[in-house]
Amino acid sequence: MWPFKKKAKPATRTVPTSQISYSQLDITERFDDHMDLQPDDWIATEPLNKMTPNAPAQGLPSVDASEDEVYAAATQLSQFRESIAIPNDGVYCPVCHIANIDLAKLRQPCPKCSRPLLKFGWD
Ligand SMILES: [Zn+2]
Repeated sequence: MWPFKKKAKPATRTVPTSQISYSQLDITERFDDHMDLQPDDWIATEPLNKMTPNAPAQGLPSVDASEDEVYAAATQLSQFRESIAIPNDGVYCPVCHIANIDLAKLRQPCPKCSRPLLKFGWD
């Protein structure tokens, strides 16, 4: 069981969503996927670079990037995402392609590969 503790919300800074192009490497298939999830539920995510033509030009890792390269790129994007307050963000592992709604898991080890979990947005 993971703790359900929620962190205090950081000061809010408003950033138009249109400026957040690719602040994560994966997405979920449907907008409301996370609505039914519990903090212990993990959902499969889809890697954006597999569905984006010319992914490297868009700031995404190439489709043949190694797991470590993918994770390094995702870490940079997560740091950006962590610098702004986005309601309802959760966490994900860009290597195992799984996500969780519980932001308290940020930087905790991925249940599969033990890499620290990164920040994930659902929409
Ligand atoms: Zn993982």
